Amino acid sequence: MTDRSFHVEQPHHETLDRCPLCEARDPRPALEVEDHSISHEHFHLVDCATCGFRFTNPRPGLTAIGRYYESEDYISHSNSRRTLADRLYQVARRWALARKHALVATHRTNGRVLDVGCGTGEFLGHLKRKGYLVTGVEPALKAREQAIAHHAIPVVPSLDQVPGREQFHVVTLWHVLEHLSDLRGTLKRLYAVTADDGLLVIAVPDRESWDAHHYGSAWAAYDVPRHLSHFRRSDVKRLATEHGFELISVRPMWLDAPYIAMLSERYRGHGPLMALIRGVLLGTWSNLASAFTSRPTSSSLYLFRKVSA
Ligand SMILES: [Zn+2]
Repeated sequence: MTDRSFHVEQPHHETLDRCPLCEARDPRPALEVEDHSISHEHFHLVDCATCGFRFTNPRPGLTAIGRYYESEDYISHSNSRRTLADRLYQVARRWALARKHALVATHRTNGRVLDVGCGTGEFLGHLKRKGYLVTGVEPALKAREQAIAHHAIPVVPSLDQVPGREQFHVVTLWHVLEHLSDLRGTLKRLYAVTADDGLLVIAVPDRESWDAHHYGSAWAAYDVPRHLSHFRRSDVKRLATEHGFELISVRPMWLDAPYIAMLSERYRGHGPLMALIRGVLLGTWSNLASAFTSRPTSSSLYLFRKVSA
């Protein structure tokens, strides 16, 4: 990172003086949020005075961000079966895998699929068994090794290392874009690796959801400092359309609200059982708000089509 859009304020944190979305200079303080899950440090969210985009600022630099991911909790969902919440999570995950495959299949029933931020590779492994040619991008070493070992799929550490000779018919980012430091650079790269008319799938939390408003700074999907961007629908649409993609549709994601609400209840001090009960109730309320009003769900799913140059 050598551009002039930030200066180093303390050894491991960087402060942006430009909006990562519109590049205007005038970030305004918006909210202070605690990292509830790992460091318990406090981080500031700022809103761009020009376009309204919200981002974490200052934020850990590339050399410091790793330690904010170092938690058993952050990866424990993959194999643990300890608690009722974990078991519910496993059921939800299997359902989500089937739903994701169905979504990809509406666009292509075969072909090349790239999953950016593929984690331990469950989604790509599932698609591979359905006959797709799959490739993953995953910066975390342990997850990458597990994906390669368990599913025998090619996984590279960064989007820049995706082989340039092939383009992908479907490119997916499931709750990944909010973690990435260079939004515009990422979209340029996504455009390059997507085939003409290819499908770009982006799932991100939505800070205009009912649960985001209800929980405020305790909203679990702020997830600082791992989440650097805090999107609204207009932000995601703008980012993608400015980089050669055309919006096909925005879809609700019903499973996120109960899960995010449960975590947020934990952050507000409730015990596991009470947080689960309250999370399911308030998450359902959030979903009802989306079903009957124009409120977005806790997270939104965007389908874009690459427009040929
Ligand atoms: Zn802006």
